[in-house]
Amino acid sequence: PFHKSKGQHILKNPLLIDSIIQKSGIKSTDVILEIGPGTGNLTKKLLEAGKSVVAVELDPRMVLELQRRFQGTPYSNRLKVIQGDVLKCDLPYFDICVANIPYQISSPLTFKLLSHRPLFRCAVIMFQREFAMRLVAQPGDTLYCRLSVNTQLLARVNHLLKVGRNNFRPPPKVDSSVVRIEPRKPLPPVNFKEWDGLVRICFNRKNKTLGSLFRQKTVLSLLEKNFKTLQALQLTPDGSSDDAEISLCVSALGDTLGDMSMDRDEVKDDDDVEMDDGDTKTSEFKDKVLSVLKLGGFEDKRSSKLTQTDFMHLLSLFNKAGIHFS
Ligand code: SAM
Repeated sequence: PFHKSKGQHILKNPLLIDSIIQKSGIKSTDVILEIGPGTGNLTKKLLEAGKSVVAVELDPRMVLELQRRFQGTPYSNRLKVIQGDVLKCDLPYFDICVANIPYQISSPLTFKLLSHRPLFRCAVIMFQREFAMRLVAQPGDTLYCRLSVNTQLLARVNHLLKVGRNNFRPPPKVDSSVVRIEPRKPLPPVNFKEWDGLVRICFNRKNKTLGSLFRQKTVLSLLEKNFKTLQALQLTPDGSSDDAEISLCVSALGDTLGDMSMDRDEVKDDDDVEMDDGDTKTSEFKDKVLSVLKLGGFEDKRSSKLTQTDFMHLLSLFNKAGIHFS
């Protein structure tokens, strides 16, 4: 009866559901967003704890089952079910999101939530364990990656609960974790396209030194192209953006983060070619880039150890030198 392709793994341990509810800190006045309610085991307890629940479910059979389950109960007028793909529909207002989601949408969903306005108080979400550990990873941790850096720019992230696979029916092949994501208010004053452009380059090979990453031909020619375009236009993007623009940039962050195998340190390909000093015109630009790295003491650093503050500092040094990432 359950569709593997839709990530249907039903929570069957009532104690675990209680513990998720308790850790969510739901208030009796809260409008709760649930994604993928399935047969409604979590939904029922959300309805007991909050003011109302909006649940988005892809599978029409599940939508029917859910409506049948709450029909004629005091809950039915506090539950709204939207049938559709959560990644494609407009989300309604909500205070808090609590969900046991299909894992294949983890990354785009995270950034869809973080680009939603007005910002919600927090999201408490069940993820595949490795994805959860990437979200909360700190500089120096093995799983520290572009996903960690981009998410933590926009939100505080905490690991709440380890969940073994036997809490689900049918049990998935991987263990899970519940994570709390609290959007930062206000958001830091950075241009997110620029930010992601920099972070993407830095984590392309996170264990290489920045000096060697920024000597790569593909990186240098991309940055030089941006540099020339902006020079020709005689304008530089300032760091600030309005709220609608921020939201757009943030949702764009999710598009490319779907893939979990982002660390390419073992991969060998043509991108890796470092520039030699033959071409003098281009080598002038290379010196400009490297001088920025030297100025901040970044040349021998590796992304795997850089903090949010380091990335912000590096971005502002580049921008001051007229070097941009988008
Ligand atoms: N919340 C239920 C529970 O904990 O027992 C079910 C969780 S199950 C892991 C994920 C649910 O999300 C399934 O009911 C599935 O049909 C639904 N789903 C899958 N893809 C979806 C999507 N793109 N948008 C909304 N719901 C989706």
